[in-house]
Amino acid sequence: MTDTIRHYINGEFVASSRTEPDPNPSDSAEVIAECSIGGAADIDVAVRAAAAAGPAWRATVSLERARILDAIGTRIMERKAELGSLLAREEGKLLADAIAEAAKAGWVFKFYAGLALQLHGASGSRLSTEGETLISREPVGVIGLIVPFNAPLIITAWKAAPALACGNTVVIKPSELAPAAVDAMTRIIAAVGLPPGVFNVVYGHGAEVGQALVSHPEVAGVSFTGSEATGARVAIAAIPRLAKIQLELGGKNAFVIADDADPVKAAKLAVAGAFHGAGQRCTATSRIIILDAGYDAVVAALIAATKALRVGAALDPGATLGPLTTRSQLERCAEVIARATADGGRVIATGTVAADSKRGHYQTPILIDNTAADTSINQHEIFGPVATIIRVRDLDEAISVANATRFGLSAGIATGSLNRARLFRQRVRAGLIAVNQTTSGVDLNAPFSAMRASGYGGAEQGVEALHFYSVTKTAYIADA
Ligand code: NAD
Repeated sequence: MTDTIRHYINGEFVASSRTEPDPNPSDSAEVIAECSIGGAADIDVAVRAAAAAGPAWRATVSLERARILDAIGTRIMERKAELGSLLAREEGKLLADAIAEAAKAGWVFKFYAGLALQLHGASGSRLSTEGETLISREPVGVIGLIVPFNAPLIITAWKAAPALACGNTVVIKPSELAPAAVDAMTRIIAAVGLPPGVFNVVYGHGAEVGQALVSHPEVAGVSFTGSEATGARVAIAAIPRLAKIQLELGGKNAFVIADDADPVKAAKLAVAGAFHGAGQRCTATSRIIILDAGYDAVVAALIAATKALRVGAALDPGATLGPLTTRSQLERCAEVIARATADGGRVIATGTVAADSKRGHYQTPILIDNTAADTSINQHEIFGPVATIIRVRDLDEAISVANATRFGLSAGIATGSLNRARLFRQRVRAGLIAVNQTTSGVDLNAPFSAMRASGYGGAEQGVEALHFYSVTKTAYIADA
């Protein structure tokens, strides 16, 4: 019998009468689990439980909060293989990547366990009178956390761990497309023993459960990761009642290959950035911008690297790419490719598909050249293994093309010149800059910065995340 994923509210696992299947994108005949589909009433119960648990959790000494977060991190890491296998089966990422994501989620809890011990404020002397100024950090309150489908373990950890470290309580709305791995992680967290109400999870659709969470009057802050369009809806619901919001959104990330770069090494970085994770990464390379002088050698290397890719099931050890998570993503890729070729683009390389595409959502990686920077394919996020090539005269034009979208998430350059790398870093309007590495690799101890339509309200990750999950209080103190 298939397991039923249940909400976790006020320390109890509770099922909804309504459930939906969580299918395996590598083989849509397999159902991983049935998932409870909640509604506004479940959100209301969870938010009230989180509000009730708030005063005791914020008063819990930081050593105890750190102990619990550290224990959660340890248990997640101990069970990374089991969590990773579930994630690979429900989301479609390759098993090794899924296990790595689970392990990183464990590290994130440990990282914020450490920071829970360092939530220091500051003190200073008054400017023109006797006395002192004390600046302290306090929790925001109940935080709503909304998670996308593509990296459910790590993104849940990025949000929940700093929120809890700062003394907030949380209600999480995972993606309806990837609930099982979050459920397994929730069961680990529940077993470690957070007080009831501190950590709650409600499954369901964005338009009902997500919207109810971001609109709830007792939710003081919302951290959302997902698409630009949904992010705007979240802002419209949360801002009128002046809730704090943090939006981590999409990208249209450029990777520039300069004519002084080794063409083979640069092509490998571009192809890995574009197609790793089947392109379902907000930081995936989407536009490969090549300087004219090195163009032919780089394109030959890109074609060779793309042709070497093999699409297969997430658990297939020979696959270099898994399936897309949903059939609608597959259909979107087909539409995008058709529109790009109608606009003059040419498909110059594909990989091989080693699995039955009727059973799974298999999209071969596609490389398209002869595209102009302002065409649809170079302006809108795809979220699949489709990358374009744009030919430019020089670095000035490359930087201007890299900046020629609404987004500003990540951008990379392959170059042997420190000076060119410096110019690129200074002039490209993106939160994450990659020099001689893929656009998609990030470390958990550094801010996940974003500019323009890629983000709003402050960065996730690193010490910087604590700014969103806490508010400062300034006290002026004089003698009586
Ligand atoms: P999505 O916007 O469709 O959904 C994200 C989450 O929002 C889901 O849990 C969904 O149920 C919920 N939701 C939907 N409608 C809602 C509403 N009205 N109110 C509240 N919540 C609602 O995104 P997705 O397809 O799950 O994820 C892919 C997107 O996420 C891409 O655009 C990708 O670039 C982005 N992403 C960004 C980052 C980042 O850190 N910048 C990381 C990963 C993914």
